[in-house]
Amino acid sequence: MRLILLGPPGAGKGTQAEFIVDQFQVPHISTGDIFRKNIKEGTDLGLRAKSFIDQGALVPDSLVVEIVEARLQEADCENGFLLDGFPRTEYQAVELDKVLEKSGVSLTAVINIKVNPELLVSRAVGRRICRSCGATYHVKNNPPLKDGVCDKCDGELYQRSDDVEETVANRINIYVNETSPLIHYYEERGKLVNIDGEQDIKVVSADIVKALRG
Ligand code: ADP
Ligand code: AMP
Repeated sequence: MRLILLGPPGAGKGTQAEFIVDQFQVPHISTGDIFRKNIKEGTDLGLRAKSFIDQGALVPDSLVVEIVEARLQEADCENGFLLDGFPRTEYQAVELDKVLEKSGVSLTAVINIKVNPELLVSRAVGRRICRSCGATYHVKNNPPLKDGVCDKCDGELYQRSDDVEETVANRINIYVNETSPLIHYYEERGKLVNIDGEQDIKVVSADIVKALRG
């Protein structure tokens, strides 16, 4: 399965990615996670990406495409992958098509998780992530059993620095202007699968499996 998760910030891409990689045994490639890891480790890439991420802006296309291209060439992507948060611009989508074409493969599906904008800010602001395993929680919608502690690995939960109201609003605007045209891009190519992301997390997961398994 060669999959893309598309949707605005807070739609539930990361949450569903945890489930999809388990069901379909494909590597999870989140460009946001790659940047956050590099920022934490103080790499050159992290330093170059940080100011964009802090403002809720997009990291320049050239930087993102290079990373994804290299990642897709790793051995674990040979039989499939799940891209989460990439592509985010038409340029990135066209570049991805070129990379896949060069390898003689094509996308299986683009899962478009649809959520009304009014719900997105509270979802992102209430998001908490495990420092150790990356699992995603929400203070109200999907709380951990013990406050601040990951159910899966006992790791510490933290709030992303870009999950504050003003930055989230900026990220949603950027999604509308730069990323949402990709819905049409993939629809035209017959790859789009629309999923109602306003349902309970488990119902969203079930709908995704149904759509992919047919
Ligand atoms: P994205 O990766 O698309 O930005 P996340 O998967 O991190 O979104 O989800 C954002 C927040 O919303 C998280 O705190 C998550 O627990 C919560 N969430 C995800 N899916 C749902 C859902 N179907 N209903 C309610 N809350 C959800
Ligand atoms: P995410 O974890 O997907 O919410 O991404 C967090 C931030 O990383 C975004 O707000 C962008 O600043 C940056 N980012 C992640 N993926 C991309 C991408 N494909 N193109 C440009 N910027 C990205």
